[in-house]
Amino acid sequence: MADPRCHVIVIPYPAQGHINPLLQFAKRLASKGVKATFATTPYTVNSIHAPNVGVEPISDGFDEGGFKQSSGVEAYLESFKTVGSRTLTELILKFNASGFPVTCIVYDSLLTWAVDVAKQLGIYAAVFLTNSASVCSMYWQIDQGLLTLPVKQETVPVSLPGLPSLDFYELPSFLASPTTHSAYLETILQKFHSLDKNDWVFCNSFEELEIELVRAMRGLWPVVMVGPTLPSAYLDQQIDGDTAYGASLWEQTTDQCLRWLDTKPPDSVIYVSFGSMADISAKQVEEIAWGLEVSNWPFLWVIKDSENKLPVDFISSVGETGIVVAWCNQLEVLAHQAVGCFVTHCGWNSTLEGLSLGVPMVGVTQWSDQPTNAKFIEELWKVGVRAKKDEEGIVRRQELEKCIREVMVGERSEEMKNKASKWRDLAKAAVGLGGSSDTKINQFVLKLLDEKK
Ligand code: UDP
Repeated sequence: MADPRCHVIVIPYPAQGHINPLLQFAKRLASKGVKATFATTPYTVNSIHAPNVGVEPISDGFDEGGFKQSSGVEAYLESFKTVGSRTLTELILKFNASGFPVTCIVYDSLLTWAVDVAKQLGIYAAVFLTNSASVCSMYWQIDQGLLTLPVKQETVPVSLPGLPSLDFYELPSFLASPTTHSAYLETILQKFHSLDKNDWVFCNSFEELEIELVRAMRGLWPVVMVGPTLPSAYLDQQIDGDTAYGASLWEQTTDQCLRWLDTKPPDSVIYVSFGSMADISAKQVEEIAWGLEVSNWPFLWVIKDSENKLPVDFISSVGETGIVVAWCNQLEVLAHQAVGCFVTHCGWNSTLEGLSLGVPMVGVTQWSDQPTNAKFIEELWKVGVRAKKDEEGIVRRQELEKCIREVMVGERSEEMKNKASKWRDLAKAAVGLGGSSDTKINQFVLKLLDEKK
């Protein structure tokens, strides 16, 4: 039963890869007796299904379609700052007047303005980082003047505390070409500049996964690892057995996928998905398609708008070997025993999900933190390989086929499977009772509850 005196409002950036971890964190707080309210934009509010969490709208200024309605990233973030600050303040004042005063705001790290709302209203603020701690540490180093932008090809490899040395193409794309997505980069850097304003800085990762970094940064920065934020069915069944995040922005075809997977032998299926945001070029889609065909393993490919993107004769050519769907519950698919390999863009959620569900990966990266995550998958965590791009930036079909073969039956295949199981167990332990992340969440909840005694 939630304690009405301890009320946390959790605010995601309204994209799938941000809603999922933040909602899961809200659910976890609710499971620990905190009253949790998820405040999100009107066009995402109806996709949230989380019985123990309240859901309320706040506005980004584009109530019909959000980002798509705006004239670009800069305009969108600016509008969310202005309208979001106002509507969040109104929501908190409404709660304060209704006997459920708000104690703390936990907000997505792209919404840097939320900390100012919290401070103006005299309540706690906790920023929630949705990248790995390693990637976040690079942005922090920039703020500290220890890494200068743009990182030039001549100055690599980059050596930073707690990280392996990084080549140019292994850096987050925002660092290698800072002008390409300058509004995102500016927001990220702003957030690291104002980290001290927060009472807590949470990161969706776990200490055991990034232990070198954790050791190197101890005492230097305030980041607290509270992940992975996966539904409890995959981690510690005793809570609620929940198998979904409870927030899908697109209709899922999971039953069809699971029925199909049920007909396949264990570890035989290649699951392919590039997340919610990646806009894969037609050329790259074509190479993936024929790469999957020549691989000759059963495959399940998530691709939105497939009728306009897939080569015309692909579906008839692969016949029963594969299915293509627009969207699914990725967790249920990854957790299915038939899935033996995850071809992924290496978004941070997908990376954590692959690791936490013990599925070896092939990285076909696009932008942002993905190249860095892919390096870690291959070299540090040893649970997969990265597909190499040609001079046009395309992963060719032969390369994809080679990578899939390496993961499925190659020399290191067994090692990757063993490592994947090891990370799955460590992830479970971190959020399980008394684990490293669970302990940090408990300390946070205790502090909030203690204040109210
Ligand atoms: N996802 C899903 N169904 C799909 C594909 C992806 O539910 O068919 C989820 C996936 O589980 C993950 C999120 O979408 O939680 C994607 O986040 P990620 O950080 O991997 O990539 P992004 O979409 O931010 O690029």
